[in-house]
Amino acid sequence: MSSYLVAFAVGELEYISTKTNSGVEMRVYTVPGKKEQGQYSLDLSAKCIDWYNEWFDIPYPLPKCDLIAIPDFSMGAMENWGLVTYREIALLVDPGVTSTRQKSRVALVVAHELAHLWFGNLVTMKWWTDLWLKEGFASFMEYMFVGANCSEFKIWLHFLNDELASGMGLDGLRNSHPIEVEIDNPNELDEIYDSITYAKSNSVNRMLCYYLSEPVFQKGLRIYLKKFQYSNAVTQDLWSALSEASGQNVNELMSGWTQQMGFPVLNVTQRQDGNNRVLTVEQRRFISDGGEDPKNSLWQVPITVSVGSAPSDVKARFLLKEKQQEFVVEGVAPGEWVKLNSGTTGFYRVEYSDEMLTSMLPDIASRKMPVLDRFGLINDLSALLNTGRVSIAQFVQVAASSANEDEYVVWGAIDEGMSKLLACSREMSEETLKRAKQLIVKMFEKTGADLGFAEQSGEDTQKMMLRALVQARLARAGHQPTIDKFNQMFTDFLEKGTPIHPDIRLATFGVVARSTGKEGFDKLMNLRETTTFQEIERQAMIAMSQTPEQPLLAQLFEYGFEKNKVRPQDQLYLFLGTGSTHMGQQYAWQYFCEHIKEFLEKKSTIVVRNMARITVNNLDCFYLDS
Ligand SMILES: [Zn+2]
Repeated sequence: MSSYLVAFAVGELEYISTKTNSGVEMRVYTVPGKKEQGQYSLDLSAKCIDWYNEWFDIPYPLPKCDLIAIPDFSMGAMENWGLVTYREIALLVDPGVTSTRQKSRVALVVAHELAHLWFGNLVTMKWWTDLWLKEGFASFMEYMFVGANCSEFKIWLHFLNDELASGMGLDGLRNSHPIEVEIDNPNELDEIYDSITYAKSNSVNRMLCYYLSEPVFQKGLRIYLKKFQYSNAVTQDLWSALSEASGQNVNELMSGWTQQMGFPVLNVTQRQDGNNRVLTVEQRRFISDGGEDPKNSLWQVPITVSVGSAPSDVKARFLLKEKQQEFVVEGVAPGEWVKLNSGTTGFYRVEYSDEMLTSMLPDIASRKMPVLDRFGLINDLSALLNTGRVSIAQFVQVAASSANEDEYVVWGAIDEGMSKLLACSREMSEETLKRAKQLIVKMFEKTGADLGFAEQSGEDTQKMMLRALVQARLARAGHQPTIDKFNQMFTDFLEKGTPIHPDIRLATFGVVARSTGKEGFDKLMNLRETTTFQEIERQAMIAMSQTPEQPLLAQLFEYGFEKNKVRPQDQLYLFLGTGSTHMGQQYAWQYFCEHIKEFLEKKSTIVVRNMARITVNNLDCFYLDS
């Protein structure tokens, strides 16, 4: 057992307990008064241990497993063997108060840490260079478990945004790093606890799982875990086990994905040849500044193809190995659309010819194209828009085809593109900004009216999140009736005790902070000061940081940092909402620059890096000379 997995906890605590089917004693510990909030995680963790026992075909070896909720904890959670530590927000659930999004995060984090009991604890990486061997797999297994056991969260849809798109976001930068990265000294480790080690590794695992098929992938992992249990392993050991299970050369396939940074964008054009469609596919590294890759990196890219006559099926599979190759898809009628990366399972982006893109629009509009594909298409377009490879008009054309869209994650991708449009417009002129806002209102208004603000009986858990997203975007675009409605909801909540649905709470707080000045700000501050629930504390703070008034923002930062009224684990959320206005962006950036030395002395590199990331991402425009 590795020494990094030892933990003791001392404090005044209470607990609830249960047993797994396999007889393991499970306990959730909290500070006094909160143990009931541990019930959800307790039940889930017991189920999770049993599920992993079977999936890995190796039983959890200890007689007990404790999960403890810690009020202030710099990491999200830590997989100490038998005493897993979590932030309160990552473990505790209060029914009726916890939002769906947060509850699904609890499920994921619980499952993530428990997956480490196999990936990391039972088989430990030989050295930190192979950190991804535990983090990439714990991340993938958390989705496997939640996907199989908590269908209400539609977790694989969220995977696309939270893992795939997040990994691509960081890996699209010129100065990204490979998944396998040389670490000389454990002090350097903080630098790789990032979206490459977690989200990219996770997404690359998913790609490989689809490529080999789940049973083969599972067989390979079982071979790996059995062979190296109570011992150490390197990446090559994993590839060997997967090669043994699949009969394929997994090392050759995967080394490009783990040993070089970045990922490809495939440019695809087509021609019809009788009953066949001939695709010309060319790969190049995707770089978010739109520039060239000096290294001319190449990947082995598993390509899947779907077509208009059977949108949910994989019509053909190819492996792209060269810079450019031609592939023939047989039995495709003239005019039928052809799409790459079915189900958005691959860690690559696709750039279509205008003709190919246009042919897909009707099936995007009718939602005949599966949701995972709709998301992938719009997310790719939004990223390509950023690089200048796609025009705003092209993006808007596809987004406008999604007027009948009903899935939260797809709207999320549209919303993200629109938010970029707003950011660009803000840089140009008042008139451009006004017109961009009008366009957004036009695109979102009907959906907003159809959805309303109240939960309807029988709808799934995603609907309220969609409602919050659409109404919040309308409010940000200055749609006055929406702003008034949100403010009324907040007033009714404070004065009459009318509950606000947890999934629309943050959106409501945000509108209040942006539109009601000091009065709303003070009410949010009061709410934050009086609640005992960490999610509400955090949401009130994120909302307050969206204030357009500089003195209020200064007051908030003073409250959080100088007066130390915000827990160190949550201080980075002070920066989160500052992207709402130019004033906020500049205030936060300046504050960060002025205090960076102090932050580096007091906080972990991970926290400071996340502050930097949030602050820089919030800037509409990064002026190099300043
Ligand atoms: Zn982990």
